[in-house]
Amino acid sequence: MKKVVFFTDSKDLDEALDNFNISSFSGKSVPVKLHMGEPKNKHFIKPDFTKVVVNALKKFGAKPYLFDTTVSYSGRRHTKEGYLEVAKIHGFTFKNIGCDVVIDDTGFNVKVEGRDYEVAENIFNSTHIFALTHVKGHIATGMGGAIKSFGMGGVTKETKRKMHHGSRPLYHKNACTYCGVCAEMCPFEAIEVQTDSWNQNMSKCFGCGVCVDACKTKAIIHKDADIQFVLACAAKACVQDKNVVYLNELKRIAKSCDCDPSSDPIICPDIGYLISDDPVAIDKATLDLIYEVKGNVFEKENKISPYKQIKFGEEIGLGSSSYQLIEL
Ligand code: SF4
Ligand code: SF4
Repeated sequence: MKKVVFFTDSKDLDEALDNFNISSFSGKSVPVKLHMGEPKNKHFIKPDFTKVVVNALKKFGAKPYLFDTTVSYSGRRHTKEGYLEVAKIHGFTFKNIGCDVVIDDTGFNVKVEGRDYEVAENIFNSTHIFALTHVKGHIATGMGGAIKSFGMGGVTKETKRKMHHGSRPLYHKNACTYCGVCAEMCPFEAIEVQTDSWNQNMSKCFGCGVCVDACKTKAIIHKDADIQFVLACAAKACVQDKNVVYLNELKRIAKSCDCDPSSDPIICPDIGYLISDDPVAIDKATLDLIYEVKGNVFEKENKISPYKQIKFGEEIGLGSSSYQLIEL
């Protein structure tokens, strides 16, 4: 059973970290994987708290630096230079935090469950990593936590694009009964079904896979695989055989992700922080704590169950959903 430490005051961070093999971080160059926010987003992890984490890692003898990857969609975070500008605007600078900020645009192939994932160079080359994740909802995966932080955030933009593209639905007319269930279930109204016609608006499709799960005749399948499956696989490609400590911040829990310029509304009150060395355990504990306060709020708001990434993560050996919660 994996340990997950829960605390509500950032002053307890050192004590929480002491529960894990943090002394092994001493002398190591440590990427602190975080999302520094899309322009206009308000809820990404804050520089002040990031500084608290960086200082704690320094106290344990580590040499931390802030780290993220470029994104596949257009915008300033599509290039290294653009993302560094956004990071600076959002307060992630050497002057504010006391360490370098590095953005990766290239990576190395790692095979997991038969597929190749291009893992960002700085993650690939590191033995010790710290994952600093702001928990929020997500339009295609229900929730973004530790698994998604690596599953999408730890790979290159080419791999991100491939994962999104491969999760899009593929329609087989011969198996379709025109029951209309897929159209009713699609959270984005991307499907239109009439008596004898089925049409999809690809520009509205986020590859969430809800229609695939809803279709009982298998008239819709994924082009390649479920987004939450490849997310778990890509996360495994990033973290397997490495020393990783995960911190989930359960604050400013918004409906949508930090990639969304307007991720409002906040859908759950602030809860606190979790730390673990297991990405599946910490995300399961995150969902359980949020469930206690707001029920199945991610599924209610985004129409997508985030529990699939937990199930897939466990199945492929990314981690364990069984955990012991230790409250400080
Ligand atoms: S749920 Fe399946 S069978 Fe029903 S309309 Fe959609 S694709 Fe066709
Ligand atoms: S994958 Fe999701 S967004 Fe795309 S058509 Fe299916 S339900 Fe709609």
